[in-house]
Amino acid sequence: MFQTTIIREAVAEGVGLHTGVYGHIRLAPAPAETGIVFRRVDLDNFPIEAQGHNVARVSYATSLMKQGVLLSTTEHLLAAIYSCAIDNIYIDIDSIEVPILDGSAEPFMQMLEKCGVRKLRRRRRYLKVLKPLEVVEDDPSMPGQVRRIGIYPADEFRVRCYVDFPHPLVGQQEVEMLVSPDTFRHLLARARTFCFERDIEPLRAMGLIRGGSLENAIVLTSEGVRNGPLRFPDEFGRHKALDLIGDLALAGLPLLARVEAHKAGHSLHTQLVSRLLADPSLWSITTSESALPESDAYLTALSPAPAAD
Ligand SMILES: [Zn+2]
Repeated sequence: MFQTTIIREAVAEGVGLHTGVYGHIRLAPAPAETGIVFRRVDLDNFPIEAQGHNVARVSYATSLMKQGVLLSTTEHLLAAIYSCAIDNIYIDIDSIEVPILDGSAEPFMQMLEKCGVRKLRRRRRYLKVLKPLEVVEDDPSMPGQVRRIGIYPADEFRVRCYVDFPHPLVGQQEVEMLVSPDTFRHLLARARTFCFERDIEPLRAMGLIRGGSLENAIVLTSEGVRNGPLRFPDEFGRHKALDLIGDLALAGLPLLARVEAHKAGHSLHTQLVSRLLADPSLWSITTSESALPESDAYLTALSPAPAAD
């Protein structure tokens, strides 16, 4: 397997969910061994690598910070890039937050489909998990219960994500899948961000969701949904799995591992990545970095997205 990048650029623009700041992003090809790198074009192209050591404040979204430069709400775009097995890419952005667009990863998948994927003359390196690692914490919303996440050895990249929200439309939902461009596109990409109507004012009071609207998040009322229809009956569980994959992208290399998340969230996801990377006895990096002959380079492209339901 070879490292990849995109063939051509693609752009998008929109408001950030939490800051409300309007911004533009451009996806651009990057050479082998670059990884996934954000560049703040409003700050002289300041680079922020999508890697665990740059994780900053994490609560309702995942933010990266490097030398005081912040970038918020990276998870949906990173989920699309990581699931599409794109190893090297520049994400040029002129604001502090990735646009939320429709609240899902579908607009980013459409951008990547326009970009196309190109294989590079360098072998892909994988982070292969050798020993299990688990992170557990108390669930403050359900006394006596815990939230947990674990990563386990496997020969492929699999996720299992379980959520349990006391709401008639949510309840217990579980997603289990092998992560590939096709499974991500069909099972997760269109699942949107959601929030509970009762949380809107408290979140606004905390300075969050300033860019939130009925166009970019599912709003759950006490009995149902304010802005239906849902795209999937279990859209909430699917979205949490999307968030999980976006946070696991911060491992910095494709994972060969099985990840199980039980009522986890951005904080647990990123704690898992940080603890994993901090302990090299838990993993190894497989496949050499040696350059390959020119003739091994070739072009490929992602297949088109499925029609909307
Ligand atoms: Zn999300």
